[in-house]
Amino acid sequence: MESIKLHDLTFRTMIEAKEIEAAVSRVAQKINEDFRDVESPIVLGVLNGSFIFLSDLVRKFEFRCELCFVKLSSYSGQESTGKMRELLGLGKSIKGRNVIIVEDIVDTGNSIKYMLNEMKRAEVASVKVCTLFFKPEAYQGDAAIDYVAMNIGNEFIVGYGLDYNEYGRELKDIYVVDGE
Ligand code: 5GP
Ligand code: MG
Repeated sequence: MESIKLHDLTFRTMIEAKEIEAAVSRVAQKINEDFRDVESPIVLGVLNGSFIFLSDLVRKFEFRCELCFVKLSSYSGQESTGKMRELLGLGKSIKGRNVIIVEDIVDTGNSIKYMLNEMKRAEVASVKVCTLFFKPEAYQGDAAIDYVAMNIGNEFIVGYGLDYNEYGRELKDIYVVDGE
């Protein structure tokens, strides 16, 4: 077990890269089954946290797709502030398209609720949500999360794209905060 320090906090290994890879493969397989015959799907990555997951995920897709990104911000430190800010918008119409939103973590569900509302306003034909991590105990939304790679408890994690105040995104494994 490896221990690392980011800013003021210590983290320890929780999920190894091999295990993440297997989970990403499983979820990609499900999406492949569902999207084999779907016309021109758009994969919409929510930056920054999803960038590594998304790049591993799309390389396992067996269908043609288009990539888009949006950038949202609600988290500061270890807690969600609840307020959504759109720092980078879509910049093009996705009306009538079939969209797969790719998130790093669905926690309270605030961000995904915001995104689903945006999809309604954009008049997309269909929308599915894919997330690397889901925190079922923290989730307060009512929308179904269609594709979940891994469920976790109410713990704060970093690595594989996820940060603690912008540190730790480059880590290959997932680390969990070790006490306070
Ligand atoms: P929600 O809006 O569902 O409460 O939070 C979603 C966003 O908060 C995620 O996309 C992610 O960026 C951030 N987040 C939630 N839980 C964690 C966590 O355990 N670690 C990190 N690094 N970010 C988290
Ligand atoms: Mg996020």
